[in-house]
Amino acid sequence: MRPEILFPIFAPVTSLKGVGPRIAKLIEGIAGPHIADLFWHLPSGLIDRRFAPRIADAPSGVIATITVDVVSHHPPPNRRLPYKITCEDETGRMSLVFFHARADYLNNILPEGETRVVSGKVERFNDEIQMAHPDHVGTPAERDKLQAVEPVYPLTQGLSLKVLSKAIGAALPLAPDLSEWLDPAFKKKHSWPAWRESLEILHSPETEDDLSPETPARCRLAYDELLANQLALALVRTHMRRQRGRSTTGTGVLRNKVLAALPWRLTDSQSRALDEITADMASDARMHRLLQGDVGSGKTVVALLSMLAAVEDGGQAVILAPTEILARQHLATIAPLAEAAGIRAEILTGREKGRNRDGILARLADGTTSIAVGTHALIQTGVEFDKLTMAVIDEQHRFGVHQRLLLAEKGAAVDILVMTATPIPRTLMLTAYGDMEVSKLSEKPAGRQPIDTRTIPLSRLSEVTAAVRRALETDARIYWVCPLVEESEKIDLSAAEDRAEQLRRQFGDRVMLVHGRMKGADKDKVMAAFAEGSARILVATTVIEVGVDVPEATIMVVEHAERFGLAQLHQLRGRIGRGDKPSTCLLLYGGGMTETARSRLKILRDSEDGFRIAEEDLRLRGAGELLGTRQSGLPEFRIADLTVHDGLLAAARDDAQLILNRNPGLRDERGEALRMLLYLFERDAAVRFIRSG
Ligand code: ADP
Ligand code: MG
Repeated sequence: MRPEILFPIFAPVTSLKGVGPRIAKLIEGIAGPHIADLFWHLPSGLIDRRFAPRIADAPSGVIATITVDVVSHHPPPNRRLPYKITCEDETGRMSLVFFHARADYLNNILPEGETRVVSGKVERFNDEIQMAHPDHVGTPAERDKLQAVEPVYPLTQGLSLKVLSKAIGAALPLAPDLSEWLDPAFKKKHSWPAWRESLEILHSPETEDDLSPETPARCRLAYDELLANQLALALVRTHMRRQRGRSTTGTGVLRNKVLAALPWRLTDSQSRALDEITADMASDARMHRLLQGDVGSGKTVVALLSMLAAVEDGGQAVILAPTEILARQHLATIAPLAEAAGIRAEILTGREKGRNRDGILARLADGTTSIAVGTHALIQTGVEFDKLTMAVIDEQHRFGVHQRLLLAEKGAAVDILVMTATPIPRTLMLTAYGDMEVSKLSEKPAGRQPIDTRTIPLSRLSEVTAAVRRALETDARIYWVCPLVEESEKIDLSAAEDRAEQLRRQFGDRVMLVHGRMKGADKDKVMAAFAEGSARILVATTVIEVGVDVPEATIMVVEHAERFGLAQLHQLRGRIGRGDKPSTCLLLYGGGMTETARSRLKILRDSEDGFRIAEEDLRLRGAGELLGTRQSGLPEFRIADLTVHDGLLAAARDDAQLILNRNPGLRDERGEALRMLLYLFERDAAVRFIRSG
């Protein structure tokens, strides 16, 4: 349970003065629902109000804080004209200008005959000196407060800087003094301030330099955030490791049959990964392993061979895919090999219904089916296994940790293998999969030809269609991916439909269209036609993004490639170059491409190495954007910026490890402080895993 000392800062923002439900909603959108969330909402700029000239000396277009005497109010004759207030000092006069003003309000804050401090941008019109809608108005007693440097925060529609600054100003004093959780020597070495002091420093920048992510205060809080993340992951990992596992040892009978049926040999890295997995399964501990391999590196067969060990040992295995297409693809790969080994593999997705589904469920429950392939449908209630001992989750980033756990609950002590083709840079790897061991497929199967990648302006589309025409004279299959217009499938779809129509006019009914809104069976039909060759050009929205395996496909055209993420383009390109014929990827770009977009496409042209591409992409874009953090399930950091603080991340990982080695129960004073850190960064769930007793 959260410690009491943190209650005030985990209160809803509505408990702050001046924050009602409407404002709270806006704040929640950009920062979060709690007062503490405002702490992490850092300034993105500043306004310097320290410049305090006299009226005559105030330059145009510059923010100034001026002390004036209020001379007279001039309400407008009609609502379209502004309300003006004449003010003066010993050097001259100036007008304060207000549109749609309320007279009583203005009389209240700027009474005639009084002295006031006003701060805002000064402008000159003809000979009149004006300040329209001063940002601040105060009494001479408030001068010091007004004549300061004001932080500027990222805002959202409907939320003004004034209102947000006030809320943050009210939130900050609520930050409690907490005992130091950092190692004193480490903190001293970096000259870092205490956490509360760091907050105050970050929210009161005085110069542009203070906004840099490399200030001691920012690094301190970034480190706190990363340490909380790494500590939580380490706790989860130790917990998982302590969980009862089972020792699964295959006889090799099934595995050898499948190996004999494969027309090729495993690559060295496939064999190594398989050895690592087999050793994990054989150990008493429960397996939590990530199998990371670039598109086309051959993860599926590694998964199958691993699952066979479970089956040989009398268990069942499942493989969970994120999409229907991918699940069917896996089944297509696995079914014939399972048959060669003499065991039963079946699919279960949302599409299996009625009697058919009942039959599948019965065969899973009584153990007739050894290997189940499927989508989310597999983890629903009502799906039961006779003896599930091994689960493979493909393309993990579409699933959360939660689903991983649900799947594990379908059996007892289930070994888990997660597969991902997303090339995750080393730094992100630590933050996301720090709770898993990793096997890596670092090479492609032999005989693969390099892909010739070219970037071409869309205006040269006719050259592209000419190349397609030439390719059609051979056996080639062509993917043609249509642009992502918006986050709306409907709009994507019409672009794809138009393109398919146009290509059909040139190439006839060898052109087929596949998109996300099609019924599953229709999708299958199109994919099957493409695989067997009656369809030669497959026009698609990004539904072909993952997993599709048609070795004859040698050309990939991507329209408006600049609108896709780099990782996504790399995945798309991975659909070709799977056979022994040379392949070509044509990235078509529209006009008005930004410099960054250009560099990104260049990375892709220059490299086929998913890891290098991901690292470069990270460098160009920042971590959050890279994988589409929300759907990737990767943690989003609020203070840490991994493009800057990756060194701190590595230090935090080592620190977390050291802490838990020395003090697994997080006892004593520093241990208590570290628990507080976990709560502060909302890693409450991890606290449960601290070893007790
Ligand atoms: P991914 O890692 O992208 O899931 P797949 O498992 O779909 O890759 O494999 C891609 C293709 O490579 C498949 O056609 C598969 O049969 C083939 N393949 C896998 N391993 C090898 C190998 N060792 N030698 C040759 N081809 C292989
Ligand atoms: Mg795959």
